[in-house]
Parts: sequence; structure tokens; C-alpha cells
Amino acid sequence: MRLKLGIAKKLSIFCLFFILILYGTVLDLLINIQTMSGISEQIVSINNQIASLSKTMLDSLISMDVNDKKYRLLKKEIYLEYFETARKDYIGSIEKILGLESNEYKLPESWHKIEDKKFASYLMPHIEINFENLSNSSPPDKTIASEALPAWIPEPILEEWIKSISNCRQENERQIEQSLIDINAKSRESIKKGLIGFGVSIVVGIIGVWFISQSMLKPLNKLKNGLRIIAHDNYDHLIEIKSNDEFGEVASIFNDMTTQLKESESIRSDFIAILSHEIRTPLASIRESVNMIIEDVFGPINDKQRKFLEIASSEISRITTLLNHLLNVSMLKSDSDKIKPEPLDPNQLISDAAMGLIGTANANSVELRIHPLVDDPVPLVMGINNEILQVLLNIIGNAIKFSYKNSFVDISLIKGAKGDEVIFKVSDEGPGIPQDEQSLVFKKYYRSKEVRTHMDGVGLGLNISKRIIQAHGGTIYMENNSDKGCSFFFTLPTKEAGSN
Ligand code: ADP
Repeated sequence: MRLKLGIAKKLSIFCLFFILILYGTVLDLLINIQTMSGISEQIVSINNQIASLSKTMLDSLISMDVNDKKYRLLKKEIYLEYFETARKDYIGSIEKILGLESNEYKLPESWHKIEDKKFASYLMPHIEINFENLSNSSPPDKTIASEALPAWIPEPILEEWIKSISNCRQENERQIEQSLIDINAKSRESIKKGLIGFGVSIVVGIIGVWFISQSMLKPLNKLKNGLRIIAHDNYDHLIEIKSNDEFGEVASIFNDMTTQLKESESIRSDFIAILSHEIRTPLASIRESVNMIIEDVFGPINDKQRKFLEIASSEISRITTLLNHLLNVSMLKSDSDKIKPEPLDPNQLISDAAMGLIGTANANSVELRIHPLVDDPVPLVMGINNEILQVLLNIIGNAIKFSYKNSFVDISLIKGAKGDEVIFKVSDEGPGIPQDEQSLVFKKYYRSKEVRTHMDGVGLGLNISKRIIQAHGGTIYMENNSDKGCSFFFTLPTKEAGSN
């Protein structure tokens, strides 16, 4: 089962895909930024504090040691106070450092060792320790007590202590360094992922736009071409759009419409063919009868009778021509399939056509001028004599019909530039055809607004001519002359072109 995806759905899927990639990239960037800000927050709020507090601890230790020594040497109370202040600073700092530990941040184990190892006992209030240690029960004599004080801390222990704190400080610096390396790595990774994400979204965007425009342009072009072909009355053409979207639906509706048009066109053609055939036969016998009466076959007739019979005969001829045209239109398609052209002399064709219309030209006070090909030998064209003659009669007949009195109609032959065709040209000095009507004159039953009311015709002559010429592999077209009137052209392939 094929998935039925309309244009709107295709567009939505593409947008969703595009947005997902874009949002994925942005989300990843945000997560990385958040991680980086967490790391930098740790550096700022924890590691930097540890660095400064551990510095205070070292300073306090040294200060305790110095003041202890001074006190022993100089026996001044003030050094004990200094000692006490340094001790409190030390204890305060280590407490603060230990207080920094949380679920998110674990202190290195070495900090705990500093806290609970043997060093702790040395942090007891200096004076008290020593008073307690004294077995003398008399009130404490500070001088005696001071003299009896043991060294507050042995030198190697102090060094070990300082070393432990320095190690912790180094560990802290290593953490800061590692965090900075992490931030750097994360930011590089973010840039890389961001670039990849944006690159992918641009590629997806371009591919998506290309895919969607292709999936719309292809069927649109097929539709356009199909419409163009059908506009030229070719109802055999079906539009092939296999997509399951709206275009597929339009194409199938269109094909249904074309099939119906073809059916109704064929019914109409059949009807016209039958009708004209049925009318032509009795009409021929009426014309024969009228002509026989005119020719006095059934006895003499007076001038008045002759005059009216002649009018009747010419009207019958006009209706017969019209019926022939109608019959031609309906039969032409099937006839053109079986066309068997033969070599024809184009000079002969135009002189035959001119001969046939000389009377009409004279009656309209129009002069026919013939410009034959002067090549030796004259290139022969491939065609069916009667049909090409009919085209020439239509076009020259129109030129005469639409010309003003005392003007010229020029019938010329031009050899095609490549020598593979001969161009027939019929030029008049009449009103020409307005630009907006030029594309319509070859359509069935088209007659310009100006002539509809007061001139003979049914608008089939040019359509028939077009079909005949196309069936012969030629083209037919017209253009207005630069000064006055218009020119009709049609081409026929030469014998040489056919034999190549
Ligand atoms: P008809 O001549 O029977 O009307 P055609 O198919 O021969 O039908 O011509 C179609 C229309 O083209 C004419 O009605 C007329 O409006 C226009 N036309 C054809 N030839 C000429 C011409 N030489 N000059 C001006 N208009 C023309």
C-alpha cells in the first residue's frame, strides 16, 4: 500500500524534521553551556574559596608557631593572644572548607585527614592545655605556666602539617586546572556539535526544499504540457502523474475531463459527418435539378425564373461548400493518419489556386500577384495535391475576402534556409488581425468580432488548413505586415528533406 502524502503533509514533515534537528542542536548547546557554567561556578564558589582559606590555614599555622616561640622567649601575654587569634583563624578556615562539601561537591579525602589526625590535639586552647598539664593546684601563675609549657608542636610534625595542607592546596589547584580543561573541551565540543548541527540542518533544508519543489514542479510541468497539448485539440493525450498527492488527483480529474471531451467531440464529429453526408446527397440532386432547369432541359424558362434559379444554384453551392468544410473537420483526423504525400511542384500549386480564385478576385476588385520560385530545378514539396490546394484556396480566399477594393494580394514562395522546406506566403493589404486575436484564428469556429455580422463564413477554413498542414509535417502561422494587412505562411517539407 502506498502512503498517501499531500503537499501540506510533505511540507509539515519536512518542517518537523528541520525543526527537530535545529532544536536538537540548540538543546545540546544549552546542555553543554549549562555543564560549563556548573564547572565554572564550582571554580568560583568552591575551589577559589578553598585556595584562599587554605592559604589562611598555612599563615595561621606559621603565625601560631612564631607566636609560640616568641611567647616562650619573651614571655609576653600578647603573643599568647596572637597565638589564640591564629588558632581560631585556622579552626575557622578548616571548618569553612569542610562546610563546602555537599552532594554535588566531595572534598578530597586529604582534607579530612588534616582535620582528624593527630594535629587536632594541638589546636586545643594553648593556655588551657598547659594549665591542665600542670599538676600544681595553686592558681595558675602565668609565668610559671609559660615556662612549663611544652613546645606547642614538634618541628617535624609542623612540617608534616604544612606539607599536608600544601598537598591539599595543590590538589585544589589540580582540580581548578582540570575544570578549566573540561570547560575548554566542552566548549570545543559545543562548537563542533553546533557546526555539525547547523550544517546538517542547512543540508536537510536544501534537500527538503529541492525535494518538495521537485515533487511540485515535475507534476506541474506535466500538467502544463498536458494542458498545452489538449488546448491544441489533442484529446488523446493523458497526463501521467503517478504521485498520490493533490497533483495526482488533479491529473486524474483532468484525464477524466479529457476522456469526456474526447467522447463528446467524437459524438459531435460523427453527428456532423452523418448530418452533412445526409444533407449533401439530396442537396446534390437539388442542385442538379436546378441546373437542368437553368439549362432548359425541361423546356424554356423566362429571364426572371433564370435569375432566381441562378441565385438558388449559387446558394446551394455555398451550402455545399459549407457542408464539405464541416465534413472535412470531422473526417480530417482519421484521414490524416493515412496521409500518403507525393512530390508536388509548388509553382504549379500556387498558379492552380490563383486560377481558381481569379473570378472572385475580380469581383472584389482585388489583384492577385504571383511570385513563383525561380530555382532550376524548382524544389518539389511533399503533399496531397487536393489538400494543399484546399489550404491555398482557404488562405487566398480569405485574403481576397478581407481586402479593400483596388488592393493587392501577393502569393509568394520562399525556399527555406536549410533547403528542407518551402514557405508559402499569402499577403494582403486588408485590416490585418488584432494581436489578441492572432492565436485564436486557427481555432475551430473562430471568427473575429468585426466580421461575424456582415461577412460569409463559419470559421472553419483556417482550422482545416492547420490540420492539413500539420498532417503534412509542416507549420502554419500568420503575422501582421509592418505597414498594412497581414500575411499567412505555411511550410511543406521538400522531396529532398523527405528522402534524407
Ligand atoms: P471564415 O473565413 O469562414 O470566417 P476562417 O477560419 O477562414 O473562417 O477565418 C477565421 C477568421 O480569421 C475570420 O473570420 C477572420 O476574422 C480572420 N481572418 C482570416 N484571414 C484573414 C485575413 N486575411 N485578414 C483579416 N482577417 C482574417
